[in-house]
Amino acid sequence: ISKQKGRGRIEYFREDLFSAIEARTLLSTKLEESIRNGELYYCFQPIIDTDTARTVGYEALARWCHNGQQVPPDVFMSLAEESGRIHVIQDHLFDFLAANVAKLGEDAYLAINISPSQMVAETFYRSLQRFLAESGFAAERLELELTERSLLLVGDEVVVLLERIKALGVKLSIDDFGTGYSCLSYLKDLPFDKLKIDRSFVMNIDNDPKNLAIVMTIINLAKNLGMSVLAEGVEKEGQANVLKRMGCHLFQGYLYSKPLTLSQLTEAY
Ligand code: C2E
Ligand code: MG
Ligand code: MG
Ligand code: MG
Repeated sequence: ISKQKGRGRIEYFREDLFSAIEARTLLSTKLEESIRNGELYYCFQPIIDTDTARTVGYEALARWCHNGQQVPPDVFMSLAEESGRIHVIQDHLFDFLAANVAKLGEDAYLAINISPSQMVAETFYRSLQRFLAESGFAAERLELELTERSLLLVGDEVVVLLERIKALGVKLSIDDFGTGYSCLSYLKDLPFDKLKIDRSFVMNIDNDPKNLAIVMTIINLAKNLGMSVLAEGVEKEGQANVLKRMGCHLFQGYLYSKPLTLSQLTEAY
């Protein structure tokens, strides 16, 4: 996995994490049971606006905790896609959200990660609509994140679907921006609202002039296109200061908060 996914995934080589092989077995044998037992849920990572020093949103990050062990979300989500069971997971996660979004407060927006292959089917649009109807959550408060890498694979049907989703009022953002061999025409042709600068650029922004130049360019690109821009994986005050000076004020990272379980989130009030 580490070779495929790059440096950022090293943290997953811990004893309390399942390997991709174990995850595959788990997915084929224990998915329904895990759903029934509440082992598949979301954590929520706060998104902070440093202009107002407030939490303005949350990113929902999928968690699968089986017998006390975590399966990394990018592992089980891609396995679920391969095996065609992503809809079972996504529908369950939408149900989890519908039952719990009220706990995020009245104003905060909610971002969820979506891979294009799960969007090809009409099923996704219906699940999304059902979630909005059942939860009463305003479409304008929902944001879908698609990774820049995944946009390479987007076909015409997904473009049409994204436009329909956008017409509901839902916002769209590009995740891990800068890592996907950018084809900037996506920015022209698709209705995105936000760029999320990948953690790999933020990581050593305070001592690598090249990263600094790239991030500066991304921020200006977003501004010039009338999009907002967010920095992912901010861990140090120094990184945040550099980013603020360049005009970025939306932040997500361990400096502010790790992803929180629902009970951690409600305790924090
Ligand atoms: P992502 O969408 O880019 O999410 C950000 C990841 O960075 C999360 O990892 C988060 O816990 C981590 N992170 C946040 N701040 C920091 C920081 O300051 N330092 C470090 N080192 N890491 C930080 P996580 O939760 O393990 O998720 C990994 C990836 O799995 C996500 O990357 C996303 O691509 C995918 N994923 C997660 N949930 C879902 C989901 O519900 N659906 C789909 N399709 N993919 C998901
Ligand atoms: Mg994301
Ligand atoms: Mg990201
Ligand atoms: Mg990522």
